[in-house]
Amino acid sequence: MAEPWTTTGATVWFTGLSGAGKTTISEILARNLREHDVRVEILDGDVVRENLSKGLGFSKEDRDINIRRIGFVCDLLSRNGVIAIAAAISPYREVRDEVRSNTTNFLEVYARCPIDVLSDRDVKGLYKKALAGEIKNFTGVSDPYEEPLNSELVVDTDRGTPEEYADRIVDALEEKGYLSRRPAPAAARHDEVPA
Ligand code: ADP
Repeated sequence: MAEPWTTTGATVWFTGLSGAGKTTISEILARNLREHDVRVEILDGDVVRENLSKGLGFSKEDRDINIRRIGFVCDLLSRNGVIAIAAAISPYREVRDEVRSNTTNFLEVYARCPIDVLSDRDVKGLYKKALAGEIKNFTGVSDPYEEPLNSELVVDTDRGTPEEYADRIVDALEEKGYLSRRPAPAAARHDEVPA
């Protein structure tokens, strides 16, 4: 185990189109944080839609409900000393900002990538279908994506590497005061507080 880092708990909220790299960067970030004894949970949009939000569709109303649910869980986690990482498209600005104002230590990361690069990547084979008109309500093609105006961090995933961006997020967490890479005094560590 590497030197432990300390955290107040925080929510790292990714937003961006399908295939932009939210999951990829989240997993690297989570691995790096866990390596330093930081408790982390990932709420991945694709996974959440199979359980917490099973049955919801892709209308604006259902997307907003999905995002509010993810935000609710992120707040529970982040106020209990966990770094919660949300990796869902979250296309609508208003509900993102609502979650921002209801969530402890919120840090928004916009995973930005041009649509032509995404349709070349086509990780899940969805762009081809969406561009052929076979998927209704596909964000960025046949459904809106409202770009964030005030993200704490924008990562252009057609340029740098996921590893580099995961490091940038750790830097941003530290700048915000949500994470410290300095060794903690023993008494301040969550696992050493007397009962
Ligand atoms: P999302 O979770 O946003 O839908 P994924 O993480 O599932 O996206 O897919 C992103 C794809 O893009 C992966 O295949 C990943 O390897 C690739 N990729 C290429 N460059 C980057 C980068 N700089 N950051 C993140 N992903 C990248």
